[in-house]
Amino acid sequence: MSLEPSCWYACVRGCEGRHPMDQSIYHCPKCGGLLDVEHDLAALGSKTADEWKQLFRERACEMVGPEASGVWSKGEWVLPSLHPKLRISLGEGRTPLLSVPRLAQEIGIQDLWMKQCGTTHSGSFKDLGMTVLVSHVNQMIAHGSAIRAVVCASTGDTSAALAAYGASAGIPTLVLLPEGKISEAQLAQPLANGAIVLALETDFDGCMHLVEEISHDPQFYLANSKNPLRIEGQKTLAVEMAEQLAWDPPEWIVIPCGNLGNVSALGKGLMMMKQLGLIDRLPRVLAAQAQSANPLYHSYRDGFESFEPQEADATLATAIRIGNPVSYERAVKVLRELDGVVEQASEQALADASARADLHGLYTCPQTGVALACLSKAVQDGIIRATDRVVVIATAHGLKFTEFKTRYHSDSIPNVQSRLANRPIRMKADAKAINEQIAREIDRRT
Ligand SMILES: *Cc1c(COP(=O)(O)O)cnc(C)c1O
Ligand SMILES: [Zn+2]
Repeated sequence: MSLEPSCWYACVRGCEGRHPMDQSIYHCPKCGGLLDVEHDLAALGSKTADEWKQLFRERACEMVGPEASGVWSKGEWVLPSLHPKLRISLGEGRTPLLSVPRLAQEIGIQDLWMKQCGTTHSGSFKDLGMTVLVSHVNQMIAHGSAIRAVVCASTGDTSAALAAYGASAGIPTLVLLPEGKISEAQLAQPLANGAIVLALETDFDGCMHLVEEISHDPQFYLANSKNPLRIEGQKTLAVEMAEQLAWDPPEWIVIPCGNLGNVSALGKGLMMMKQLGLIDRLPRVLAAQAQSANPLYHSYRDGFESFEPQEADATLATAIRIGNPVSYERAVKVLRELDGVVEQASEQALADASARADLHGLYTCPQTGVALACLSKAVQDGIIRATDRVVVIATAHGLKFTEFKTRYHSDSIPNVQSRLANRPIRMKADAKAINEQIAREIDRRT
């Protein structure tokens, strides 16, 4: 038995066979199902849990270089086949875990934390997966692969991350976006990074379908989260969070879900830590969906017996407007393993939840609003208890969703009442009038 960590592709449905990492495959050759990156747990187990914790702790002190990345500081668990010189890193991960006691109190629990995944290079957790995928492509190209471009369909954040890492590596990037269905900032990002941006008259699911066709050509490497390399990077989110909580996991993790790659990654990270002894129990997961795009919610209500793809309706949470999630099978596996619950949030509830969180100094994206609204619902329903420790995964930076903020605060979102709207006060430049106004405003806020 080799004690060097190694990994390979294997079928998520459990078909036999290990497929080497140096090929562009996205499906099990036997059944056509999704693939997973599997690790040699025996080799990883040659270090004790305490030795891993110690090593991660030492690396957390690094200020620059690969170990300063939240992903590559866990590199043996992520992609041991990668040569360190070929890493493409933009300082991803190592995001803050914030305690928010006053928000917790409003929601009705005692111990609430926000994992601020948007505090990172391109502004969303997608960086965690893209550093792995693009590094791996970089290595395949260095070894003579015919790949000419990395490609993805996107609800905005995937393309922003892919374009950034692709540009950093000098690998051309092609992104397919549903025209008019992503935020302005999310469109500006891939344009600025020089990606080929195709704005298509379809929705995300339509873009996904096309990108799968395009990636049949081995020149075009598929970068959507169907690709298990993304999951490997994103799973470090769980490890980093556990580390920040001194390896004492919360009772619940709440995560907004669209294509279901991130909840799968979260679960994979948690289970890997449990298997290697770094944590001794598993949190439960609350998967949060927008009511307008809720195929997982429906499937959950049916005990995951059936799954109906849908045409997702418009939602403020544009990054999770997905009706036919690619990682459905992976996510169900995780939710079964972690005794997961799926909840949904209306547009009104997500908008208010986001605005309320911002009043505690956060700047939440609408997807994080979905998570917070579902958390409140689960607390009201008694699913999450007041004494449970909860971590909410804040998936993107609110600055990527400026239109959402300005529209909420100008009360101009159709069918949503902006109960917490805060408008600029227009008035004469007159000191006395200003003084009176300030007094009224401060009274209103205290
Ligand atoms: C991609 C994304 C999600 C959803 O993640 P999935 O892996 O697609 O379920 C949630 N929030 C934001 C901000 C995202 O960019
Ligand atoms: Zn299979």
